[in-house]
Amino acid sequence: MDMPVPNAAVIAKKEHVVARLAEVLPEGAVIHDPAETRAYECDALAAYRCPPMAAVLPGSTAEVAAVLRICHEEGVPVVPRGSGTSLAGGAMPTADSVILGVARLNRVLEVDYDNRVIRVEAGRTNLSVTGAVEADGFFYAPDPSSQLACAIAGNIAMNSGGAHCLKYGVTTNNLLGVTLVTMDGTVVEIGGAYMDAGGYDWLGVICGSEGQLGVVTEATLRILPKPEGARPVLMGFDSSEVAGACVADIIKAGVLPVAIEFMDRPCIRATEAFAGAGYPDCEALLIVEVEGSPAEIDEQLGLIKQIARRHDPVELRESGSEAESAAIWKGRKSAFGAMGQLGDYMCLDGTIPVSALPHVLRRIGEMSAEFGLGVANVFHAGDGNMHPLILFDANTPGDLERCEAFGAAILKLCVEVGGCLTGEHGVGIEKRDLMGVQFDPVDLEAQMRVKDVFDPGWLLNPAKVFPLEASAGRRAG
Ligand SMILES: Cc1cc2nc3c(=O)[nH]c(=O)nc-3n(C[C@H](O)[C@H](O)[C@H](O)COP(=O)(O)OP(=O)(O)OC[C@H]3O[C@@H](n4cnc5c(N)ncnc54)[C@H](O)[C@@H]3O)c2cc1C
Repeated sequence: MDMPVPNAAVIAKKEHVVARLAEVLPEGAVIHDPAETRAYECDALAAYRCPPMAAVLPGSTAEVAAVLRICHEEGVPVVPRGSGTSLAGGAMPTADSVILGVARLNRVLEVDYDNRVIRVEAGRTNLSVTGAVEADGFFYAPDPSSQLACAIAGNIAMNSGGAHCLKYGVTTNNLLGVTLVTMDGTVVEIGGAYMDAGGYDWLGVICGSEGQLGVVTEATLRILPKPEGARPVLMGFDSSEVAGACVADIIKAGVLPVAIEFMDRPCIRATEAFAGAGYPDCEALLIVEVEGSPAEIDEQLGLIKQIARRHDPVELRESGSEAESAAIWKGRKSAFGAMGQLGDYMCLDGTIPVSALPHVLRRIGEMSAEFGLGVANVFHAGDGNMHPLILFDANTPGDLERCEAFGAAILKLCVEVGGCLTGEHGVGIEKRDLMGVQFDPVDLEAQMRVKDVFDPGWLLNPAKVFPLEASAGRRAG
């Protein structure tokens, strides 16, 4: 993958920039020793690494604004960072950039049960938002599998989703307002503790903008009362295509499960070896979960099982207790960890119309043979958000490049069948140079003009999202 050439003039004034940053931040909040900045050299797309010039950890919106003002004046690129779990390289630095980490911004600012909202600082982890309200019977719905670690800031930047987003929507559907600091240090309030704001939908523009437009420091989020109950059913099938067809039929029938998760044989095998969840020995399995009152759950599961039986499942296992539900979810929840035991993998993220699942799964299987690399599939099938995990060996010369080419072919296929390049992980550096597959030059130019408005110098998270060639005239580096 091509990387931009760092700006030598910026690197040359490192000492001066670090000294200015240290003037506006508390002791220990400016990290510049090369041994320590290495901690920020990559995110979860660990195949690509580059330590930043420095990293800063501000503790308030005012400190974030002060940092951005200095970097703006000095012409230093800034890469916002939450918890660094991006799978798209969104938080990967360049050698001439300052990482702006929001981990110290992690307080709950206000909980308002009457209006069902919570206001938090943006570095707070996703799971700990629910943690702050669950004793009172509430929860925050978007649930990325990384929710123990990832921050609300990263969730907003990537418009993250999760297993239960089929019913509740992704981050954008649960975000009501943000405090945003633009590259020149201006603090802007967008949206708030109400359903909709007047004027243009700026919140919609910010959510999913991948740290291109400003640094989010606070967020107002919708919280929901916990459902009365939830119950999953596990279904095993003879082929991935049949499992895909079953998903399409469930969606077509108009039932709205809270989650439909898919795993294929390579993933089931790895998971069984890792977690021993007791999954059936089959080509593909689905976990379908519904929630509501006991009567609602029975009715929905009855219909879902009826649809599943039309596809001759090799196993149809309904949970009868909390322990059985936990066992059904155990394998799915440890799937990424299990795949990590097998070696290096790259996790893709394309979205397709649900009806295209059987075709796309078959083509991915064929492409695996064509590219000579293994692939495992585990994903949120209900909303067509696929996560093929391509297995490769980082120590085998040429394997990473083959993996990149295989990944690009899968994402092109997603666009071909009417889907898109990313469902929830974002574009980052990973899909940057594929944006031309989805958007024509006029589209891309319109999107880049939005960045021009917020960040005319293109200093914020540069060399991400837009193809390097298309953005070359705008970026400083
Ligand atoms: C094991 C695993 C499972 C995962 N499962 C899911 C999943 O189910 N669903 C899903 O959607 N994702 C998933 N992810 C991807 C990742 O966790 C999400 O993209 C998450 O939202 C990133 O959050 P973060 O705080 O780690 O952000 P980071 O990785 O730090 O940054 C991500 C992006 O956000 C920008 N950013 C960070 N902070 C700010 C800020 N304050 N203001 C503006 N921009 C900012 C960064 O510049 C970068 O572009 C998974 C990742 C892993 C490793």
